[in-house]
Amino acid sequence: MKRMRIEQPASLADAAALLAEHGSRALCVAGATDVIISWRKGELPEAAELLVDISGLKELRGIRESEGQIIIGSGTTHAEAESDPLLLSTVPFLCEAAASVGSPQIRNRGTIGGNIVTSAQCADTIPPLLVLDAEAVLVSAAGERTVALSDFLIGPKQTAIRPEEIMREIRFTRPPEGARGAFVKLIRREAVAKARISLALLAAADSAGKLTDCRFSPGSVTPQPQRFSEVERLLCSRVPDEQLIEEAAELTAAVMIRESGRRWSAPYKEPVLKTLTSRLLRRILMAEEA
Ligand SMILES: Cc1cc2nc3c(=O)[nH]c(=O)nc-3n(C[C@H](O)[C@H](O)[C@H](O)COP(=O)(O)OP(=O)(O)OC[C@H]3O[C@@H](n4cnc5c(N)ncnc54)[C@H](O)[C@@H]3O)c2cc1C
Repeated sequence: MKRMRIEQPASLADAAALLAEHGSRALCVAGATDVIISWRKGELPEAAELLVDISGLKELRGIRESEGQIIIGSGTTHAEAESDPLLLSTVPFLCEAAASVGSPQIRNRGTIGGNIVTSAQCADTIPPLLVLDAEAVLVSAAGERTVALSDFLIGPKQTAIRPEEIMREIRFTRPPEGARGAFVKLIRREAVAKARISLALLAAADSAGKLTDCRFSPGSVTPQPQRFSEVERLLCSRVPDEQLIEEAAELTAAVMIRESGRRWSAPYKEPVLKTLTSRLLRRILMAEEA
């Protein structure tokens, strides 16, 4: 394994100063569940020689609400997120996504920030955060900036984070009263399994049942996590019925094929994605049992 130096800064400002000084020769490490694997496989960035361990920084921990915004410190572990009372009462589907990550050991170490920055196509917390219109707050020695998660994810395993930046938190507006959200994940029958397909949905309807808001993000089916805006536009402003749900499920599978091409897994994923989508839409939009 390549030799690396490790620094444990005492504050976020110190961590940012180290990144500013060392640029692309330094790499943040939080729970290390992804970094260790890349290190072992010899896949750390070639220039990297210093790991800046941010796992002890209090400024990156905690989940709170402020002025209608729910704010999750990037260093929050999946285990903390899955049982957090504020998240459970406002966005339980995000807790379900966090609870579905890996094994208890991985959930106790792995963080929401690390999950987003790695931005694997199967990252479990990303689809729920995309349907929540989440934003990432990035800090560096030069200041801070806020980037919509949809703009932060710029390609397969590629994000807009700069070498000198640290994600401090992820934030989103509390969903409106009456909105219904859901997360489902299909895995192989193994103890620790990454998603083969996941779906996140957040929808709200008026008193006549017409959808006033509909946000939909399938995971693991496109090279990079994304919202399926064509499906959202098809559903929005309509009263869902069987025919609309079937159309939405067909369109979801068509968008997957267009975005990913007809890969070896398509004969399996196409019908399964259609079925999972129509089941989820029926359950959430027509309040049917799964
Ligand atoms: C056995 C196993 C099973 C897994 N199962 C799943 C699964 O089911 N679902 C799933 O989604 N993932 C899974 N993972 C992947 C991993 O556990 C998650 O992505 C985890 O959330 C990563 O967080 P971390 O804190 O360990 O990140 P780290 O490994 O510390 O860092 C990952 C990347 O993010 C960067 N980074 C971390 N925090 C910050 C920050 N605050 N600011 C800037 N950059 C930062 C690091 O520089 C690095 O590039 C699994 C991993 C393993 C080893």
